[in-house]
Amino acid sequence: MSSIRSPIIGVAALLLLVAAACGNDGSSDESSTTTSESATTTTQDSGGVDATAIPLGDGKISEAPRRGSLWSCMTDAMGGGAAVDGPWIHGDTWNMEEKVEVPGDVEWPQAMFTISVEDEERVLTGNGLPRDATTGVFPIPGDSEAYEYDRNPNSIGEYDLEYRLPASPTLADEPSCAPGMVGVATSGVVLFNAFDALLRDAVAHEVQDHCDGHPQESSVYHYHGLSACFDDPGTGHSALFAYALDGFGIYGTRGENGEELSNADLDECHGHVHEITWDDETVELYHYHATIEFPYTVGCFRGTAVEGQPPGGGAAGGAPQSGPPG
Ligand SMILES: [Zn+2]
Ligand SMILES: [Zn+2]
Repeated sequence: MSSIRSPIIGVAALLLLVAAACGNDGSSDESSTTTSESATTTTQDSGGVDATAIPLGDGKISEAPRRGSLWSCMTDAMGGGAAVDGPWIHGDTWNMEEKVEVPGDVEWPQAMFTISVEDEERVLTGNGLPRDATTGVFPIPGDSEAYEYDRNPNSIGEYDLEYRLPASPTLADEPSCAPGMVGVATSGVVLFNAFDALLRDAVAHEVQDHCDGHPQESSVYHYHGLSACFDDPGTGHSALFAYALDGFGIYGTRGENGEELSNADLDECHGHVHEITWDDETVELYHYHATIEFPYTVGCFRGTAVEGQPPGGGAAGGAPQSGPPG
């Protein structure tokens, strides 16, 4: 039985790359059913989710749409390697405020990303580098605190990014599972789903830079959730953070009245329907939200996702590097 349910070969290939690169976490503990700590804190920082005690998403995989889970097309943990859980992980929760980040402030003046609408298609073209944002230093410097917990040996590289999404997406008859890559951020950086190769909570376990990005084995820089470098000022509904591969938007953490959203406010795929501004028009349209609660962005697709091209096939920087240290 194949572990890949998606017929999308390109995405499947990318998924393997995701898996290979993100497998630098510690010993697998996905069968854990015991709860060593229960979240009893009453601090409410975001939509009922306490940023200092976010429930870990480890093992929260489903085979159908389910709120709070990720319906992953990939169902088998793979890869691996040894790293240790950072001290920001406390039993079955993690503390966003304690988590370390990869140091550095690397500029990418050659970053390129454009969004255009041609006929019925939204065309995203770029080279995979972050537009208007810097990154940390990768490979993760050996003398950094981040290196103690994550020895990501990969570098950031350019590649040919092109996606053609439905400009006016519609709901599919049935939701579908989320592949390894779920969208493209407006910064030009690709968005992966919330799992690492061990089907653990990548946002919690993996050490990212100050913009919440890091590269995988073929040098593709990516996010697993909202980027801290996403500019989302104001008090009303959040701005657009990314386009999902089914064409729907993925917005920031705030809902219609400016309230911080949590899973309880969203459907099984992490979205909802209300009036939004879409290509300068006010329309009632389905859309996803990024939140600080697992699965962070897309839990499954409500529209019909396009085939993804595996990044790294074109430009430099795609050569696989040595895998994560054992
Ligand atoms: Zn990753
Ligand atoms: Zn909304």
